[in-house]
Amino acid sequence: MDHPVPTPPAAASETGDPLLLTPGPLTTSASVKRAMLHDYGSRDRHFIELNQGILERLVGIAGGQGSHVAVPLQGSGTFVVEAMLGCFVPRDGRLLICINGAYGKRMAKICQYHGRSHTTVEFAEDEPVAPAAVEASLERDRAITHVAVVHSETTSGILNPLTEIARVVERCGRGLLVDAMSAFGAVPLDAREVRFDAVCASSNKCLEGVPGMGFCIARKEALADTKGNSPSLSLDLHDQWRAMQASGQWRFTPPTHVILAFDQALDEFDREGGVEGRGARYRANCALLVEGMRALGFRPLLPDGLQAPNIVTFHMPENRKFVFERFYGLMREQGYVIYPGKLTQADSFRMGCIGRLDQDHMRGALAAVRHALDRLGIGETVA
Ligand SMILES: *Cc1c(COP(=O)(O)O)cnc(C)c1O
Repeated sequence: MDHPVPTPPAAASETGDPLLLTPGPLTTSASVKRAMLHDYGSRDRHFIELNQGILERLVGIAGGQGSHVAVPLQGSGTFVVEAMLGCFVPRDGRLLICINGAYGKRMAKICQYHGRSHTTVEFAEDEPVAPAAVEASLERDRAITHVAVVHSETTSGILNPLTEIARVVERCGRGLLVDAMSAFGAVPLDAREVRFDAVCASSNKCLEGVPGMGFCIARKEALADTKGNSPSLSLDLHDQWRAMQASGQWRFTPPTHVILAFDQALDEFDREGGVEGRGARYRANCALLVEGMRALGFRPLLPDGLQAPNIVTFHMPENRKFVFERFYGLMREQGYVIYPGKLTQADSFRMGCIGRLDQDHMRGALAAVRHALDRLGIGETVA
């Protein structure tokens, strides 16, 4: 009955760590980690130039040369989202927040903390933000000055129709603020085609640096108007921008090692072919994962057309032999870290496909899922 199933050797990153099939932190390359083995003073000329170079490259990735600037900020992604909302929504402004998951909800919570006037337009977690609903809200509520949206809601992995939403916001004469954390660098976003006041993302996620800093890419004219808006000193992007213009330096201790790693990560991003190359690898990872998991009887939450190539949400199988905690442990034993679900509407779990992962890693992950099912006593498929 109980056939011992031999466990294959555990998968590992280049530096021997388990592979992170999660929405961040992510697996990074050995060369990115090695780039951190230096101590720089914040006034060091080499460091200042490298920092400046990174900011210019970020503007370039967003197609904002000449019209936009990048402003960096210490901290995880949420810090820069909070900084963006606090800075770009004037004290007497009002924000419309598009919500179809936890990160949209977090933006509403930030506004509550700031005491900023806001309202929401909400959708189910497996439903994209509808541009028509945004337009209706803007026509109904003339006090709204800005709209905030998450490009890819990492709660589910859904991709929101940013181009169409931006068109509506522009037509209605409001400002657009985008949390592009889990899309930037892998999903195209071009400031020449999509009008926005600010887009923010972080060093980790699709750019594959180490976690520790975020950045905001802002339309210069919009950013210039934000003086005095921020309710926070350390999160004041306008002040950070002005200080950096004046001295080339961060206002407060810069995360020097994170910045060194980020520079290396951007070299590797360029070598891969930028957004196109990075996006192609992630899409191939994602397609393999979805197809392989479907063959094993798992059901993805989203239809392929709504799925961003970053993280896939699977419905929790109803099979009684499938105990998630055991499945998680069996995957971890084999060198793959997966992620619990974050949906409020359905029991689920998630598997990411971003970071330093390729198709061989995804095939390895699928073999590990098969092996875990064997160990759980689940035959052919889990369905
Ligand atoms: C990861 C992420 C963030 C930031 O999360 P942190 O844990 O603060 O780094 C914000 N928005 C989205 C959509 C994300 O995927």
